[in-house]
Amino acid sequence: MADNLSPVSHHELSRRGLLFVLSSPSGAGKSTIAGMLLKDDEQIAMSVSVTTRPQRPGEEDGKDYHFVGGDEFEEMIADSAFLEYATVFGNRYGTPAAPVQQKLEEGQDILFDIDWQGTQQLYQRAGEDVVRIFILPPSLTVLRDRLESRATDSNEIIESRMQRAASEISHWDGYDYVLVNDDLDACFAKVRNILATERMRRARQTGLISFVRDLMAQERG
Ligand code: ADP
Ligand code: 5GP
Repeated sequence: MADNLSPVSHHELSRRGLLFVLSSPSGAGKSTIAGMLLKDDEQIAMSVSVTTRPQRPGEEDGKDYHFVGGDEFEEMIADSAFLEYATVFGNRYGTPAAPVQQKLEEGQDILFDIDWQGTQQLYQRAGEDVVRIFILPPSLTVLRDRLESRATDSNEIIESRMQRAASEISHWDGYDYVLVNDDLDACFAKVRNILATERMRRARQTGLISFVRDLMAQERG
């Protein structure tokens, strides 16, 4: 585990906390799936990013993002306050480090809705503690339909998101799992299964060593 990001052991048979990343081209459904996961699972908490992009109608400062100006973002970089940061669609986005560390210490896994650049940086820092999922739309026509039906962006912004889609999709191979979000419930079930299985990996089960030692002692005794 690298530098200041140290997942702590937690839960009954103690295990390391994991950093669960969802990325996708804009409109493929990652926010929807992240919301479903947070509702369904009390052991995982969302990392709330800092951004310089303008707040959209319906978004809450401190819940969806921490909305800041460019100067404040620069100060946070200078203070090494970010685990990772990147420029996406001309705006800056970053993951503040302190809340992530605090949530890990409280025994939570952390869910990240970040792009491929942030995912790479997080993986460089936290390696095996990171689980990376990339979500694809079934087609670009469906992707456009979803961006239009979400009704949060102007036509111009939808066009720029569509133009970026192919280059974002080209980073699919930097992820551990790639899912097609056709049927939402089916895709969500896969995400939930991945999380459940990843939690059981031997390398995360820090409590196993003493558990097995005790088992073997019983055998000898
Ligand atoms: P992202 O966070 O990847 O930009 P969203 O989660 O905001 O995407 O989803 C974009 C739109 O598509 C939303 O209106 C959402 O309700 C809808 N959506 C997401 N997944 C599906 C799906 N499997 N089938 C139909 N609509 C979907
Ligand atoms: P949106 O503006 O639509 O909310 O997000 C645009 C893109 O920025 C999405 O691909 C989202 O995953 C990404 N993003 C959001 N927060 C962060 C962050 O903290 N770091 C990075 N690297 N990307 C982020």
